[in-house]
Amino acid sequence: MVPQNIKCNVTECQYNSNVMCDAPMVQVNRNNASQSSKSDETKCETFKPRA
Ligand code: SF4
Repeated sequence: MVPQNIKCNVTECQYNSNVMCDAPMVQVNRNNASQSSKSDETKCETFKPRA
């Protein structure tokens, strides 16, 4: 089930299903920035590598 429409190319994540995110919720945080000004400064905290 894909409850939201989050397209994600990180297919090595265990939540990835056919280039879509299948996680029940996704936490996104800043990445090495106190104020993000571009997408590179954000990251998916919910990512988990496939076992
Ligand atoms: S949890 Fe994050 S990295 Fe993993 S599939 Fe979803 S959006 Fe992509």
